[in-house]
Amino acid sequence: VLDLARQLIGFDTINPPGNESAATHWIGDLLGAGFDCRYHEFAPNRASLLASLPGIGAPLAFTGHVDTVPLGAEPWSRHPFGEVDGDRLYGRGASDMKGAVAAIVAMALRHAAMPAPRTGLLLLITSGEETTCQGAAHLAETVDLRGMAGALVVGEPTSNRPVIAHKGCARYRVATHGVAAHASMPEHGVNAIHKLADIIGALRRFEFGVAPHPILGGPTLNIGTIRGGSAINIVADAAEIGVDIRLVPGQPEARVRQQLQELVGSEGRVELLEQAASVATEPDHPWVVDAVRRVSARFGESLTAGGVPYFTDASVLTAALGGVPTLILGPGEASMAHKVDEYCRISLLEQSVEIYAELARSWNPTEYLSA
Ligand SMILES: [Zn+2]
Repeated sequence: VLDLARQLIGFDTINPPGNESAATHWIGDLLGAGFDCRYHEFAPNRASLLASLPGIGAPLAFTGHVDTVPLGAEPWSRHPFGEVDGDRLYGRGASDMKGAVAAIVAMALRHAAMPAPRTGLLLLITSGEETTCQGAAHLAETVDLRGMAGALVVGEPTSNRPVIAHKGCARYRVATHGVAAHASMPEHGVNAIHKLADIIGALRRFEFGVAPHPILGGPTLNIGTIRGGSAINIVADAAEIGVDIRLVPGQPEARVRQQLQELVGSEGRVELLEQAASVATEPDHPWVVDAVRRVSARFGESLTAGGVPYFTDASVLTAALGGVPTLILGPGEASMAHKVDEYCRISLLEQSVEIYAELARSWNPTEYLSA
């Protein structure tokens, strides 16, 4: 798995521009003849891979993305396309999440070599995840995924701890308009920046009015960008902010948009830019209970399934597969994602192959999905 992860990190799939096709085809070639591999490009050179291994009953699905975020402006002290030092594999995507994709491939090869009868697998290796699940969304639009798997494992970084819930995301542009005038006579204009400043003040005190989720807590709001005015000597006639809201399960985006528009009133306009759904599986789902027990045994401690604030391709895939139970578990460390000198612990990488293989081996759709 270390060898696979190193090779995968060696592909430059920095998104934008992504150019993931070489990496996804390399994975498809590795999987070999036992798997039915289909490639789906959402843009030129940006293929996702849907690989299925037939077996008994509804397959168990695994997903991981092969694109990465850029290296960032700060210099790296390690090789960003792969370097091993002790228990650490360094490189962009080591934690988020080429390490997990390598573990999924290693597990799949091992599972396929098991004598029949065995359960089936569905691998969804996506492109364009870092830019709001573009590859997964394209897969969901072009392939009828409903019924293709009974449950989903997402290899996003959790240090191999089980996670069953993540927040959703909704991003808005909030814009105000005014009337331009000479800065020496501001009484002849209407200042869009002043209007926006009042809105910003109100947003900082904003209450969503939703009960906190038992695992994820409450929703959050962050104003990430601000722009306004055209020159220092003109009363600003336009201003806008970018607002990122992390939603909890059961909090519809449309309701949030309505709340924002009520807060802004006639002083501005609220526009939805993009969104990703939250995901939550019941902690007492029989498959989840069994998976948490198996992972606990490996750690030698009693774990409970947790939640993460970041969203994943499950925002799209869980619903597209028909609302399947979803487990997020991967060898990377969430604190390493998108950082300079990103690394993944090799011991966790190896452990994730064992966990994935056990989940695949013990997958029993009749037992887990009858409830
Ligand atoms: Zn990721």
